[in-house]
Amino acid sequence: MSTKVVKFGGSSLADAEHFKKVADIVLADKTRRYVVASAPGKRFSDDVKVTDMLYRCYDMAVKGDSFSDAFKAIEERFNDIISGLGLDISLDDEFAGIKDAFAHRAGRDYAASRGEYLNSMILAKYLGFDFVDPAAYIRFNDQGQFDLDTTRTLLGEKLSGITYAVIPGFYGSMPNDTIKTFARGGSDVTGSIVANAVNAVIYENWTDVSGFLVTDPHIVDDPEPITTITYRELRELAYMGAGVFSDEAIFPAKKANIPINIKNTNKPEDRGTFIVSDTAETSRFTITGIAGKKGFSVIQI
Ligand code: ASP
Repeated sequence: MSTKVVKFGGSSLADAEHFKKVADIVLADKTRRYVVASAPGKRFSDDVKVTDMLYRCYDMAVKGDSFSDAFKAIEERFNDIISGLGLDISLDDEFAGIKDAFAHRAGRDYAASRGEYLNSMILAKYLGFDFVDPAAYIRFNDQGQFDLDTTRTLLGEKLSGITYAVIPGFYGSMPNDTIKTFARGGSDVTGSIVANAVNAVIYENWTDVSGFLVTDPHIVDDPEPITTITYRELRELAYMGAGVFSDEAIFPAKKANIPINIKNTNKPEDRGTFIVSDTAETSRFTITGIAGKKGFSVIQI
């Protein structure tokens, strides 16, 4: 069976209603075998992402301030999802363990990673998939650099024995087994790593927009979507300031020549944008996308 890796961002997993859409998407295609999940994101514009709540809470713990109320608000976010899905599970033991680890200063990366960890536990239960904690398989070296070779071996071996799994995004661990996160937005990187480790046919990255636009909609009205873009073109656009996929997230998929498809959880029928190594497709346009930076000069020597 061919394998797809699918990653859902925080806005796609912000509440129970979104979880239901995610389950419909995943279960509609039995080749969507490995699901990478973010922490719950914003439900409305001035909402707070669970990752930010965790950072704040941990900072309070380190200062020796009481963080019980702040932590309660995090528990509520997860309990709302659990009850909204009608699941018969309790994360109370997990919450207690995390609070205890905060009090013992388990580290800011550990703290931030718990959003993905808990959300993935809920999603795994809801989908009936296995839960795989990436701490043991996504590895960094002593310098804190991500180690693709070791990870590919460990994660590839682990997942070869599991047909369907949910894997928390955003983190792995150091050689001394402490948790280390990628940069913010790092679940995109995890999705790309999992795709590489299982030689996926495609890496679907599900978010709240139907792919990239040809240019910035704040400047140009109603720009067309980009249907296909090469890794290289995307890199150029990112370099010139387009808020697109990070290089760190592209590299593991690119290395294994796996196309990335940016898709919209709220409009799954939209084609989205394909990021590929080479395009044989003749585009309607000569120019793929336009990005720019103010006050930017290039000096060529
Ligand atoms: N939850 C993390 C963040 O807010 C990682 C992610 O969503 O990809 O940055």
